Amino acid sequence: MKYAATLLLWCMLTASLAGLYRLDESTPPEEPSADSRTPLVLLTDDGPRAMTMADYLPFALAAEMPVSFGAEALKAQAVALRTLALAGGKHPDGDLCADSGCCAAWLDEPELRARWGEDYEANMAALRAAVASTDGQYLVYGGEPIQAAFHASSRGYTEDSGAVWSPLPYLVSVSSPETEQDAPGLVSTVTVTAEDLSRTLGLETADPPEEWVRQLVPDAAGRVDRAVIAGSEFTGSQLRGLFHLRSTAFTLAWDGEAFLFTVSGYGHGVGMSQYGARAFAAMGMDHRQILAHYYPGTELALYSPQTSASPTKNISTQAVTASLP
Ligand SMILES: [Zn+2]
Repeated sequence: MKYAATLLLWCMLTASLAGLYRLDESTPPEEPSADSRTPLVLLTDDGPRAMTMADYLPFALAAEMPVSFGAEALKAQAVALRTLALAGGKHPDGDLCADSGCCAAWLDEPELRARWGEDYEANMAALRAAVASTDGQYLVYGGEPIQAAFHASSRGYTEDSGAVWSPLPYLVSVSSPETEQDAPGLVSTVTVTAEDLSRTLGLETADPPEEWVRQLVPDAAGRVDRAVIAGSEFTGSQLRGLFHLRSTAFTLAWDGEAFLFTVSGYGHGVGMSQYGARAFAAMGMDHRQILAHYYPGTELALYSPQTSASPTKNISTQAVTASLP
């Protein structure tokens, strides 16, 4: 019996060692990244460009966020950009365009070399690292890629998507930590003479200017929903566009000589604040925590492209957690 047991043990050992040996011998080469297996079509001023997600993301990241914002903010931004590219849907002839006002900004290599000079290689290495370390990660809500909106900065709170576009359950107003020390130009001013204000808005009034601004009606996030000026009503977005204000978070007052818009933050205010992401990263939050804060109720998922003609539309998803601790 003892001999049989020893023999059995010996057999098991050699079998498992042989198994290990075989495993070592036949370890396959590392699988290419999900991003490098995902083709996409980017619409640029020079026409459509075919590339992979791995080619696209570092150059979009370069156009959308300063490299100095740090690894976790860059990773959060990379996930938001990947999610936008996967969601697509804005253009029939491509996945997304290179216009920051529509999809997301994107710069090509010559533009970045001209901008960065001898820092090009180091900067691109940092951006590629942010992309590679989040390979395949994107945000989902109800199993679908989200509209991962982002903006430069908010003062105190981000905006509800319903106040700008249509309401989405994960694009709701949340706190944002950036201060004037973190974000240059977080508070900006625009001065407009009474004559310019009247002409631009088409006002017809005989009242003195100090009586024109009757009411600024805030939305749920505290930004200007609408304003009543000399008896006419305007939305915050209309005034933002007409007077080139950096956001709809503003006050408007007559200072005795002119009208003064005092504006907080920069951008539409919906989704992730980039300066907020940098501030959170500086506090020690990782990219998953930053994304969970700005896109509440979403999950961070991993995709692996299928071998079909349109892999970005045919993805298998494995959920990973993005919840706050
Ligand atoms: Zn677009």
